[in-house]
Amino acid sequence: MPAHGIKFDNVTMDLKMMLDYKNKAVFGLTGGIEFLFKKYNVKYVKGFGKITSPNEVSVTLNEGGTKSLSTKNIVIATGSDVTNLPFLKIDEKRIVSSTGALDLAAVPKRMTVIGGGIIGLEMGSVWRRLGSEVTVVEFTPAICGGADAEVAKDFLRILTKQGMKFKLNTKVTAANVTDSEITLTTETTDTKKQEQLAADVVLVSVGRRPYTDGLGLEGVGVKVDERGRIPVDHHFRTNVPSICAIGDCIPGPMLAHKAEEDGIACIETLAGGVGHVDYNTVPALCTRTPRSRGSVPRKKNSRRRASNIASANSRSRRIAGRGQTTMTKGLLNIWRMPRQTRCLAAT
Ligand SMILES: Cc1cc2nc3c(=O)[nH]c(=O)nc-3n(C[C@H](O)[C@H](O)[C@H](O)COP(=O)(O)OP(=O)(O)OC[C@H]3O[C@@H](n4cnc5c(N)ncnc54)[C@H](O)[C@@H]3O)c2cc1C
Repeated sequence: MPAHGIKFDNVTMDLKMMLDYKNKAVFGLTGGIEFLFKKYNVKYVKGFGKITSPNEVSVTLNEGGTKSLSTKNIVIATGSDVTNLPFLKIDEKRIVSSTGALDLAAVPKRMTVIGGGIIGLEMGSVWRRLGSEVTVVEFTPAICGGADAEVAKDFLRILTKQGMKFKLNTKVTAANVTDSEITLTTETTDTKKQEQLAADVVLVSVGRRPYTDGLGLEGVGVKVDERGRIPVDHHFRTNVPSICAIGDCIPGPMLAHKAEEDGIACIETLAGGVGHVDYNTVPALCTRTPRSRGSVPRKKNSRRRASNIASANSRSRRIAGRGQTTMTKGLLNIWRMPRQTRCLAAT
Protein backbone atom coordinates (compact mmCIF):
# COMPACT_ATOMS: atom_id res chain seq x y z
CA MET A 1 0.00 0.00 0.00
CA PRO A 2 2.67 2.60 0.85
CA ALA A 3 4.13 1.97 -2.64
CA HIS A 4 0.76 3.08 -4.04
CA GLY A 5 0.90 6.29 -1.99
CA ILE A 6 -1.63 5.13 0.59
CA LYS A 7 -0.58 5.50 4.22
CA PHE A 8 -2.56 4.79 7.35
CA ASP A 9 -2.09 4.21 11.05
CA ASN A 10 -4.22 3.33 14.08
CA VAL A 11 -5.90 0.51 12.18
CA THR A 12 -8.53 -1.27 14.30
CA MET A 13 -10.77 -4.22 13.69
CA ASP A 14 -14.42 -4.77 14.61
CA LEU A 15 -14.92 -8.55 14.48
CA LYS A 16 -18.67 -8.34 15.02
CA MET A 17 -19.02 -5.95 12.10
CA MET A 18 -16.87 -8.23 9.95
CA LEU A 19 -19.05 -11.26 10.77
CA ASP A 20 -22.24 -9.24 10.16
CA TYR A 21 -20.89 -8.40 6.72
CA LYS A 22 -20.16 -12.10 6.08
CA ASN A 23 -23.65 -13.11 7.30
CA LYS A 24 -25.24 -10.56 4.98
CA ALA A 25 -23.28 -12.01 2.04
CA VAL A 26 -24.42 -15.57 2.92
CA PHE A 27 -28.02 -14.39 3.31
CA GLY A 28 -27.86 -12.65 -0.08
CA LEU A 29 -26.51 -15.75 -1.81
CA THR A 30 -28.99 -18.22 -0.29
CA GLY A 31 -31.87 -15.78 -0.79
CA GLY A 32 -30.78 -15.56 -4.43
CA ILE A 33 -31.34 -19.30 -4.85
CA GLU A 34 -34.91 -19.01 -3.52
CA PHE A 35 -35.50 -16.22 -6.04
CA LEU A 36 -34.22 -18.46 -8.86
CA PHE A 37 -36.51 -21.30 -7.71
CA LYS A 38 -39.50 -18.96 -7.99
CA LYS A 39 -38.37 -17.57 -11.33
CA TYR A 40 -38.00 -21.01 -12.91
CA ASN A 41 -41.08 -22.53 -11.29
CA VAL A 42 -39.23 -24.95 -9.01
CA LYS A 43 -41.33 -26.05 -6.02
CA TYR A 44 -39.37 -25.65 -2.78
CA VAL A 45 -40.43 -27.96 0.04
CA LYS A 46 -38.56 -27.04 3.24
CA GLY A 47 -37.78 -30.13 5.31
CA PHE A 48 -35.74 -33.31 5.70
CA GLY A 49 -36.24 -35.82 2.89
CA LYS A 50 -36.19 -39.60 3.16
CA ILE A 51 -36.44 -41.87 0.12
CA THR A 52 -39.21 -44.36 0.83
CA SER A 53 -39.40 -46.07 -2.60
CA PRO A 54 -37.64 -45.63 -5.99
CA ASN A 55 -40.28 -43.00 -6.86
CA GLU A 56 -41.30 -41.56 -3.51
CA VAL A 57 -39.77 -39.12 -1.02
CA SER A 58 -41.25 -38.47 2.42
CA VAL A 59 -40.42 -35.01 3.81
CA THR A 60 -40.46 -34.12 7.51
CA LEU A 61 -41.45 -30.49 7.13
CA ASN A 62 -39.60 -27.74 9.02
CA GLU A 63 -42.95 -26.19 9.91
CA GLY A 64 -44.18 -29.53 11.34
CA GLY A 65 -45.90 -32.53 9.79
CA THR A 66 -44.87 -34.62 6.80
CA LYS A 67 -45.46 -34.52 3.09
CA SER A 68 -45.11 -37.29 0.54
CA LEU A 69 -43.76 -36.51 -2.94
CA SER A 70 -44.29 -38.91 -5.85
CA THR A 71 -41.83 -38.49 -8.69
CA LYS A 72 -40.47 -40.14 -11.84
CA ASN A 73 -36.86 -39.53 -10.81
CA ILE A 74 -35.05 -38.65 -7.61
CA VAL A 75 -31.72 -36.74 -7.62
CA ILE A 76 -29.72 -37.09 -4.39
CA ALA A 77 -27.71 -33.91 -3.74
CA THR A 78 -27.26 -34.10 0.03
CA GLY A 79 -23.61 -32.95 0.02
CA SER A 80 -21.04 -33.72 2.69
CA ASP A 81 -20.35 -33.28 6.38
CA VAL A 82 -17.27 -32.84 8.56
CA THR A 83 -15.17 -35.90 9.35
CA ASN A 84 -14.86 -36.13 13.15
CA LEU A 85 -11.98 -37.28 15.32
CA PRO A 86 -13.17 -39.86 17.85
CA PHE A 87 -11.37 -38.19 20.80
CA LEU A 88 -12.36 -34.58 20.09
CA LYS A 89 -16.03 -33.63 20.10
CA ILE A 90 -16.83 -30.57 18.01
CA ASP A 91 -18.85 -27.98 19.99
CA GLU A 92 -18.53 -25.19 17.36
CA LYS A 93 -17.35 -22.83 20.13
CA ARG A 94 -13.81 -23.84 21.10
CA ILE A 95 -13.50 -27.06 19.11
CA VAL A 96 -14.80 -26.04 15.74
CA SER A 97 -15.37 -27.26 12.22
CA SER A 98 -15.29 -24.78 9.33
CA THR A 99 -18.83 -23.77 10.33
CA GLY A 100 -17.75 -22.63 13.81
CA ALA A 101 -14.49 -21.19 12.48
CA LEU A 102 -16.55 -18.73 10.44
CA ASP A 103 -18.37 -17.53 13.55
CA LEU A 104 -15.87 -17.19 16.42
CA ALA A 105 -16.92 -14.47 18.86
CA ALA A 106 -13.34 -13.27 19.45
CA VAL A 107 -9.94 -13.67 17.83
CA PRO A 108 -8.34 -16.62 19.66
CA LYS A 109 -4.85 -16.00 20.99
CA ARG A 110 -3.73 -19.51 19.98
CA MET A 111 -5.40 -21.64 17.34
CA THR A 112 -4.44 -25.17 16.34
CA VAL A 113 -5.64 -26.42 12.98
CA ILE A 114 -5.77 -30.19 12.60
CA GLY A 115 -5.38 -30.92 8.88
CA GLY A 116 -3.41 -28.86 6.35
CA GLY A 117 -5.90 -29.18 3.51
CA ILE A 118 -7.68 -26.38 1.69
CA ILE A 119 -10.31 -25.69 4.37
CA GLY A 120 -7.80 -25.73 7.25
CA LEU A 121 -5.46 -23.37 5.41
CA GLU A 122 -8.22 -21.01 4.31
CA MET A 123 -9.67 -20.70 7.81
CA GLY A 124 -6.29 -20.79 9.60
CA SER A 125 -4.78 -18.05 7.44
CA VAL A 126 -7.80 -15.79 7.99
CA TRP A 127 -7.41 -16.02 11.78
CA ARG A 128 -3.64 -15.62 11.46
CA ARG A 129 -4.16 -12.37 9.56
CA LEU A 130 -6.53 -11.26 12.32
CA GLY A 131 -3.80 -11.86 14.91
CA SER A 132 -4.01 -15.49 16.12
CA GLU A 133 -0.92 -17.62 16.63
CA VAL A 134 -1.85 -20.45 14.27
CA THR A 135 -0.23 -23.90 14.21
CA VAL A 136 -1.23 -26.42 11.57
CA VAL A 137 -0.74 -30.14 12.29
CA GLU A 138 -0.67 -32.23 9.12
CA PHE A 139 -0.28 -36.01 8.87
CA THR A 140 1.41 -36.08 5.44
CA PRO A 141 4.74 -34.44 4.45
CA ALA A 142 2.98 -31.65 2.48
CA ILE A 143 0.09 -29.21 2.83
CA CYS A 144 -2.75 -28.88 0.31
CA GLY A 145 -3.03 -32.64 -0.39
CA GLY A 146 -3.81 -33.36 -4.04
CA ALA A 147 -2.51 -30.00 -5.25
CA ASP A 148 0.48 -29.62 -7.52
CA ALA A 149 3.52 -30.44 -5.34
CA GLU A 150 5.50 -27.37 -6.41
CA VAL A 151 2.61 -25.00 -5.74
CA ALA A 152 2.03 -26.66 -2.35
CA LYS A 153 5.71 -26.16 -1.47
CA ASP A 154 5.54 -22.50 -2.45
CA PHE A 155 2.41 -22.02 -0.37
CA LEU A 156 4.07 -23.56 2.65
CA ARG A 157 6.92 -21.06 2.34
CA ILE A 158 4.56 -18.09 1.89
CA LEU A 159 2.24 -19.07 4.75
CA THR A 160 5.25 -19.66 7.03
CA LYS A 161 6.42 -16.13 6.18
CA GLN A 162 2.95 -14.88 7.14
CA GLY A 163 3.57 -16.35 10.59
CA MET A 164 1.73 -19.67 10.42
CA LYS A 165 3.54 -22.61 12.04
CA PHE A 166 3.45 -26.10 10.57
CA LYS A 167 3.98 -29.53 12.06
CA LEU A 168 4.16 -31.85 9.05
CA ASN A 169 4.45 -35.65 9.20
CA THR A 170 2.62 -35.33 12.49
CA LYS A 171 -0.68 -36.70 13.73
CA VAL A 172 -2.86 -35.75 16.66
CA THR A 173 -3.43 -38.78 18.86
CA ALA A 174 -5.29 -37.45 21.91
CA ALA A 175 -6.83 -34.34 23.44
CA ASN A 176 -7.31 -32.98 26.92
CA VAL A 177 -10.02 -30.33 27.18
CA THR A 178 -10.15 -28.08 30.25
CA ASP A 179 -12.04 -24.85 30.93
CA SER A 180 -8.98 -22.78 30.07
CA GLU A 181 -7.43 -24.59 27.10
CA ILE A 182 -7.35 -27.58 24.79
CA THR A 183 -4.13 -29.58 24.83
CA LEU A 184 -3.47 -31.91 21.94
CA THR A 185 -0.95 -34.73 21.97
CA THR A 186 0.92 -34.89 18.68
CA GLU A 187 3.14 -37.67 17.40
CA THR A 188 5.56 -37.57 14.47
CA THR A 189 4.85 -40.33 11.95
CA ASP A 190 8.50 -41.40 11.56
CA THR A 191 10.21 -41.09 14.98
CA LYS A 192 6.97 -41.33 17.03
CA LYS A 193 8.14 -38.32 19.05
CA GLN A 194 5.28 -37.00 21.18
CA GLU A 195 4.59 -33.37 22.07
CA GLN A 196 1.84 -31.37 23.80
CA LEU A 197 0.27 -28.45 21.94
CA ALA A 198 -2.04 -26.09 23.82
CA ALA A 199 -4.57 -23.77 22.17
CA ASP A 200 -7.65 -21.68 22.91
CA VAL A 201 -9.46 -22.85 19.78
CA VAL A 202 -8.96 -26.04 17.75
CA LEU A 203 -10.19 -26.29 14.18
CA VAL A 204 -10.87 -29.86 13.05
CA SER A 205 -10.41 -29.97 9.28
CA VAL A 206 -9.38 -33.53 8.57
CA GLY A 207 -11.68 -33.98 5.61
CA ARG A 208 -15.31 -34.30 4.69
CA ARG A 209 -17.50 -37.36 4.22
CA PRO A 210 -20.55 -37.84 2.01
CA TYR A 211 -23.69 -36.97 3.98
CA THR A 212 -26.44 -39.54 3.49
CA ASP A 213 -27.56 -40.01 7.11
CA GLY A 214 -31.27 -40.81 7.48
CA LEU A 215 -31.82 -40.71 3.73
CA GLY A 216 -33.19 -44.26 3.55
CA LEU A 217 -30.66 -45.54 0.98
CA GLU A 218 -30.54 -49.02 2.46
CA GLY A 219 -34.32 -49.36 2.39
CA VAL A 220 -34.51 -48.75 -1.37
CA GLY A 221 -31.29 -50.64 -2.17
CA VAL A 222 -29.05 -47.72 -3.28
CA LYS A 223 -25.45 -48.93 -2.90
CA VAL A 224 -22.68 -46.90 -1.26
CA ASP A 225 -18.94 -47.61 -1.52
CA GLU A 226 -16.45 -48.20 1.32
CA ARG A 227 -16.14 -44.41 1.87
CA GLY A 228 -19.88 -43.84 2.03
CA ARG A 229 -20.03 -42.30 -1.48
CA ILE A 230 -22.82 -43.22 -3.86
CA PRO A 231 -21.35 -44.78 -7.02
CA VAL A 232 -22.98 -43.53 -10.25
CA ASP A 233 -22.60 -44.23 -13.98
CA HIS A 234 -21.73 -41.59 -16.63
CA HIS A 235 -25.33 -40.38 -16.51
CA PHE A 236 -25.25 -39.95 -12.70
CA ARG A 237 -27.58 -42.93 -12.24
CA THR A 238 -27.18 -45.03 -9.10
CA ASN A 239 -27.75 -48.79 -9.18
CA VAL A 240 -31.49 -48.00 -8.81
CA PRO A 241 -32.37 -46.65 -12.30
CA SER A 242 -34.86 -43.95 -11.21
CA ILE A 243 -32.46 -42.52 -8.61
CA CYS A 244 -29.52 -40.28 -9.57
CA ALA A 245 -26.88 -38.65 -7.37
CA ILE A 246 -24.63 -35.61 -7.84
CA GLY A 247 -22.17 -33.38 -5.98
CA ASP A 248 -20.20 -34.12 -2.83
CA CYS A 249 -22.05 -37.36 -2.06
CA ILE A 250 -20.65 -39.13 -5.17
CA PRO A 251 -17.00 -39.89 -6.09
CA GLY A 252 -15.00 -36.99 -7.55
CA PRO A 253 -13.65 -33.70 -6.21
CA MET A 254 -15.77 -32.08 -3.47
CA LEU A 255 -16.09 -28.67 -5.12
CA ALA A 256 -19.02 -26.33 -5.66
CA HIS A 257 -18.58 -25.85 -9.42
CA LYS A 258 -18.16 -29.63 -9.90
CA ALA A 259 -21.42 -30.21 -8.02
CA GLU A 260 -23.10 -27.60 -10.20
CA GLU A 261 -21.80 -29.17 -13.44
CA ASP A 262 -22.91 -32.63 -12.19
CA GLY A 263 -26.38 -31.17 -11.65
CA ILE A 264 -26.59 -29.62 -15.11
CA ALA A 265 -25.36 -32.78 -16.86
CA CYS A 266 -27.66 -35.00 -14.80
CA ILE A 267 -30.80 -32.96 -15.43
CA GLU A 268 -30.00 -32.51 -19.15
CA THR A 269 -29.75 -36.29 -19.44
CA LEU A 270 -33.00 -36.85 -17.54
CA ALA A 271 -34.66 -34.35 -19.88
CA GLY A 272 -33.64 -36.48 -22.87
CA GLY A 273 -30.49 -34.57 -23.85
CA VAL A 274 -26.81 -35.38 -23.36
CA GLY A 275 -24.75 -34.36 -20.34
CA HIS A 276 -21.17 -35.12 -19.38
CA VAL A 277 -18.56 -33.79 -16.93
CA ASP A 278 -14.83 -34.43 -17.45
CA TYR A 279 -13.38 -34.48 -13.92
CA ASN A 280 -9.84 -34.04 -15.37
CA THR A 281 -10.72 -30.47 -16.26
CA VAL A 282 -12.29 -29.40 -12.95
CA PRO A 283 -10.26 -26.48 -11.59
CA ALA A 284 -9.67 -26.07 -7.86
CA LEU A 285 -9.37 -22.80 -6.02
CA CYS A 286 -7.95 -22.13 -2.59
CA THR A 287 -8.93 -18.70 -1.32
CA ARG A 288 -6.00 -17.87 0.91
CA THR A 289 -3.68 -14.97 0.29
CA PRO A 290 -2.21 -15.55 -2.24
CA ARG A 291 -4.83 -17.68 -3.97
CA SER A 292 -4.18 -20.93 -5.75
CA ARG A 293 -6.25 -22.13 -8.60
CA GLY A 294 -5.93 -24.52 -11.47
CA SER A 295 -6.58 -28.00 -12.71
CA VAL A 296 -3.77 -30.41 -12.16
CA PRO A 297 -3.07 -33.56 -14.16
CA ARG A 298 -2.67 -36.44 -11.74
CA LYS A 299 1.08 -36.38 -12.32
CA LYS A 300 2.16 -38.13 -9.17
CA ASN A 301 -0.64 -40.70 -9.45
CA SER A 302 0.17 -41.97 -12.92
CA ARG A 303 3.69 -42.67 -14.11
CA ARG A 304 2.57 -43.44 -17.65
CA ARG A 305 0.66 -40.18 -17.93
CA ALA A 306 3.46 -38.27 -16.29
CA SER A 307 5.94 -39.43 -18.92
CA ASN A 308 3.66 -38.00 -21.59
CA ILE A 309 3.26 -34.61 -19.97
CA ALA A 310 5.66 -31.73 -20.31
CA SER A 311 5.50 -28.96 -17.75
CA ALA A 312 6.84 -25.44 -17.65
CA ASN A 313 6.74 -23.05 -14.78
CA SER A 314 7.37 -19.44 -14.07
CA ARG A 315 7.65 -17.46 -10.86
CA SER A 316 5.03 -14.75 -10.77
CA ARG A 317 7.76 -12.12 -10.21
CA ARG A 318 8.42 -12.62 -13.92
CA ILE A 319 4.73 -12.86 -14.79
CA ALA A 320 4.03 -9.63 -12.95
CA GLY A 321 7.27 -8.16 -14.24
CA ARG A 322 5.71 -5.33 -16.21
CA GLY A 323 5.10 -3.47 -12.99
CA GLN A 324 1.28 -3.54 -13.00
CA THR A 325 1.18 -5.27 -9.65
CA THR A 326 3.31 -5.43 -6.55
CA MET A 327 1.94 -8.87 -5.58
CA THR A 328 4.87 -10.86 -6.88
CA LYS A 329 4.84 -13.97 -4.72
CA GLY A 330 3.65 -17.07 -6.49
CA LEU A 331 4.15 -19.67 -9.13
CA LEU A 332 2.47 -20.56 -12.41
CA ASN A 333 2.72 -24.13 -13.71
CA ILE A 334 1.45 -25.08 -17.16
CA TRP A 335 1.28 -28.62 -18.55
CA ARG A 336 1.07 -29.59 -22.19
CA MET A 337 1.58 -32.71 -24.27
CA PRO A 338 5.08 -32.77 -25.85
CA ARG A 339 5.08 -31.54 -29.47
CA GLN A 340 1.58 -30.10 -29.03
CA THR A 341 0.49 -26.59 -28.17
CA ARG A 342 -2.73 -27.59 -26.41
CA CYS A 343 -2.67 -26.67 -22.73
CA LEU A 344 -3.60 -29.66 -20.55
CA ALA A 345 -3.73 -27.92 -17.22
CA ALA A 346 -2.51 -24.89 -15.35
CA THR A 347 -2.14 -24.12 -11.70
C1 LIG B 1 -15.52 -24.27 4.53
C2 LIG B 1 -15.72 -24.73 3.13
C3 LIG B 1 -15.12 -24.03 2.11
C4 LIG B 1 -15.31 -24.42 0.80
N1 LIG B 1 -14.71 -23.71 -0.19
C5 LIG B 1 -14.90 -24.07 -1.47
C6 LIG B 1 -14.32 -23.31 -2.52
O1 LIG B 1 -13.63 -22.33 -2.29
N2 LIG B 1 -14.55 -23.69 -3.79
C7 LIG B 1 -15.33 -24.78 -4.09
O2 LIG B 1 -15.51 -25.09 -5.26
N3 LIG B 1 -15.88 -25.53 -3.12
C8 LIG B 1 -15.70 -25.19 -1.82
N4 LIG B 1 -16.26 -25.96 -0.83
C9 LIG B 1 -16.99 -27.18 -1.20
C10 LIG B 1 -18.42 -26.88 -1.64
O3 LIG B 1 -19.09 -26.16 -0.64
C11 LIG B 1 -19.14 -28.21 -1.91
O4 LIG B 1 -18.40 -28.96 -2.84
C12 LIG B 1 -20.52 -28.00 -2.50
O5 LIG B 1 -21.30 -27.20 -1.65
C13 LIG B 1 -21.20 -29.35 -2.71
O6 LIG B 1 -22.46 -29.13 -3.25
P1 LIG B 1 -23.62 -30.19 -3.01
O7 LIG B 1 -24.79 -29.63 -3.72
O8 LIG B 1 -23.16 -31.54 -3.32
O9 LIG B 1 -23.88 -30.17 -1.44
P2 LIG B 1 -24.23 -28.96 -0.42
O10 LIG B 1 -23.89 -27.63 -1.00
O11 LIG B 1 -23.58 -29.36 0.87
O12 LIG B 1 -25.78 -29.05 -0.30
C14 LIG B 1 -26.42 -30.16 0.28
C15 LIG B 1 -27.71 -29.68 0.88
O13 LIG B 1 -28.56 -30.77 1.14
C16 LIG B 1 -29.19 -30.60 2.39
N5 LIG B 1 -29.58 -31.95 2.86
C17 LIG B 1 -28.79 -32.96 3.27
N6 LIG B 1 -29.53 -34.05 3.57
C18 LIG B 1 -30.82 -33.71 3.34
C19 LIG B 1 -32.05 -34.41 3.46
N7 LIG B 1 -32.12 -35.68 3.84
N8 LIG B 1 -33.19 -33.73 3.12
C20 LIG B 1 -33.14 -32.42 2.70
N9 LIG B 1 -32.02 -31.74 2.58
C21 LIG B 1 -30.86 -32.35 2.89
C22 LIG B 1 -28.12 -29.94 3.23
O14 LIG B 1 -28.70 -29.27 4.34
C23 LIG B 1 -27.51 -28.96 2.22
O15 LIG B 1 -28.20 -27.74 2.20
C24 LIG B 1 -16.11 -25.57 0.50
C25 LIG B 1 -16.71 -26.28 1.54
C26 LIG B 1 -16.51 -25.88 2.85
C27 LIG B 1 -17.16 -26.66 3.95
